[in-house]
Amino acid sequence: MAKGRESAQPLVQLTDDQQKILDNIKPANHLSLPKGYLSHTQVDMYLRCARQYFFRYVRDHKRPPSAAMALGSGAHKALEGTHHHIVKHGAPAPTEAVLDEFSVSFEEKSEDVPEKAWTEGGSDKGQIKDAGIKLVRLYNEQQAPKVKPQVKDGVPGIEKRFEVKIGGVPMVGVIDLIDVNSTIVLSEIEVKMMAEKGKSVPEFMRTSVSDLKVKAKSMSQGDVDGSLQLTLYSYVEGINSVRYDQLLRQKTPKFKQVSSTRTTSDHLWMQEVVTGVAKAISAGIFPPCDPTSWVCSEKWCGYFHQCRGKKR
Ligand code: SF4
Repeated sequence: MAKGRESAQPLVQLTDDQQKILDNIKPANHLSLPKGYLSHTQVDMYLRCARQYFFRYVRDHKRPPSAAMALGSGAHKALEGTHHHIVKHGAPAPTEAVLDEFSVSFEEKSEDVPEKAWTEGGSDKGQIKDAGIKLVRLYNEQQAPKVKPQVKDGVPGIEKRFEVKIGGVPMVGVIDLIDVNSTIVLSEIEVKMMAEKGKSVPEFMRTSVSDLKVKAKSMSQGDVDGSLQLTLYSYVEGINSVRYDQLLRQKTPKFKQVSSTRTTSDHLWMQEVVTGVAKAISAGIFPPCDPTSWVCSEKWCGYFHQCRGKKR
């Protein structure tokens, strides 16, 4: 198991303002976390609705997977396979083999999806699986040939697990992909100009941490710039360039990359958020969220009836 960095020490010399922020963050001691650690999923849920976090992690009430989770799980497994094939053979796996992998993983996850969950979005299971097949094919044939997974100390940057302490808080996670053939730091024109001068782009300028999403709607630039998940991954790997690789389940299936960068200030902010959430959880603070928030509805909160009672 790959270990990450031990604590949030800055990557570069801090400014006076940054040093003040760091001085004000008290390490989280004497923690009492339901799982003994946090993940970006836990922190995101706590920030979205602390009461929801209480039901899911303190009471341990798991909700059955949704149709979207079966789709995402199948796509992740299939793309993990093709990324490993690139490391071993220098090219993506044959598309039919990747689609078989998708199908097996999708069907396995589907077993736990409740019957009515398949039709909630106006589709049925067959249509959702077909959409997944089209998206995985699109990725394998158009995007995967451009990808080069990092191999560092013999460990491929594919579904790479980490354990770190951030301000004394144990954090665990899995990074989908570290790509050393990313073009998001330099523009294509800059790359071309360097090539004309006989220079290649150094690996650190081509390396990006990526997370795969299967979604109906694309994330905005603001979503990606503010993503705590990508800030955490950037910190853990010491890589400033980050991106979401999105497979968009639309009438015409699409692949869309949205990229961003992270700085020392972002890493310090992430440390503040993580330690703040860990301290609040340890103190047993689980307030409900704003009742007008999109998440606070029967459709989006699986604990709605437990929390707010039956709607009349
Ligand atoms: S019903 Fe609203 S307040 Fe209650 S857990 Fe769900 S999102 Fe949170």
